[in-house]
Amino acid sequence: MDDDERGFSTRAIHDADLPREIGEQPLAPPIYLTADYLYEGLEHYADVINERRPGYVYGRYGGPTHVALHKVLASLDDAEAAWSFASGMAALHTALTMLARAGQHLVVNRTVYGGTYALLTSVFPGYGIEVTFAEPEADEIGAAIRDNTAAVLVETLANPTFRVADVEGIAALCAERNVPLVVDNTVASPYLLRPLRFPGVSLVMHSTSKYIGGHSDLIGGSVAGPRSLVDGLRHLSMEQGTTAGAFDAWLALRGVQTLGLRMARQCANALELATFLAAHDRVERVHYSGLPNHPDHDRAGELFRDGYGAMLAFEAAGGYEGGVAICDALRVARVGSSFGGVRSEVTHPASTSHRQFPPEERRAAGIGDALIRVSVGAEDMGDLIADFDQALGKP
Ligand code: PLP
Repeated sequence: MDDDERGFSTRAIHDADLPREIGEQPLAPPIYLTADYLYEGLEHYADVINERRPGYVYGRYGGPTHVALHKVLASLDDAEAAWSFASGMAALHTALTMLARAGQHLVVNRTVYGGTYALLTSVFPGYGIEVTFAEPEADEIGAAIRDNTAAVLVETLANPTFRVADVEGIAALCAERNVPLVVDNTVASPYLLRPLRFPGVSLVMHSTSKYIGGHSDLIGGSVAGPRSLVDGLRHLSMEQGTTAGAFDAWLALRGVQTLGLRMARQCANALELATFLAAHDRVERVHYSGLPNHPDHDRAGELFRDGYGAMLAFEAAGGYEGGVAICDALRVARVGSSFGGVRSEVTHPASTSHRQFPPEERRAAGIGDALIRVSVGAEDMGDLIADFDQALGKP
């Protein structure tokens, strides 16, 4: 699909087209809220369920709404195929259990989402799968790979430190060592990066609950990659029961059309807010790769298209208490439980999204006790700056 010269938003808006089932095609894909399908007879049903004939089987096997979503998600990631899941965690669970078996081992970047950390450290040991955490640099990942390493998992833009992984270097290493690489691209979104352009990347995963959905109203996940691997995921997700529900798939389908618009605006807002915070005397440190003094500024500039992401973190003077006072005083950005929507949210990762890490590992991962994470929304920038200004001004 590399010869597809069309722009990102054209693909996002056009590529979900459903097969023409009636005379005129609906412009907005309909939602198929059906669990079951009816057949001409038993032979027809047997042919469809045994994949001798194209067709639909059952909600857990995906329906027409899913097909439309998979088509647009594959297009945005420059992939042959994509599959959608009930959540980002379901996507990770199915992808990693497809790649790793009992007695095998995974290498995962150290600053990983707390839910992913919990899955890997509390569920996977029961499956007999071991995990080593390493910095997302090619040499450190390379040193952690063993003979029985089944896959490497890396988040492109780590949440909540917003360090940028050496995706290109790690992909080259994984290609050389013949280890599948799964990239969690949730925070960057396909708008900023299509990791499959690096030959060593096997699968790209997103929590569609975040930027792809974009309106904080759905829970979903997706994985895109070569058809052979996505077919494996499709079969496993039917067996594990991790396929997306039709309504959430439809919400993702609706949201993804404006991904380009939203990301452009939210990334611009984030850069402006990061610049404002960095100049404020009550802020000690800002973590945002768009700032020239960020350690990954150059890498982010090379890797990402048109922006540095819509999330940042900062440490306020006065440590944890200072940060809490600011969060509680905000009126436009509010304390919230997630990120990736058009409405700004702030949180304290050490006590919430990354609480599953033991404190010393959390600090080693760069998630300090004073770190405040901001998911920058699409509000008018003057209102956001005024909000942070008044909140920072409080004693
Ligand atoms: N990956 C990352 C980077 C995340 O931040 C999250 C959720 O916050 C997930 C995966 C899990 O996604 P979900 O909440 O849709 O299960």
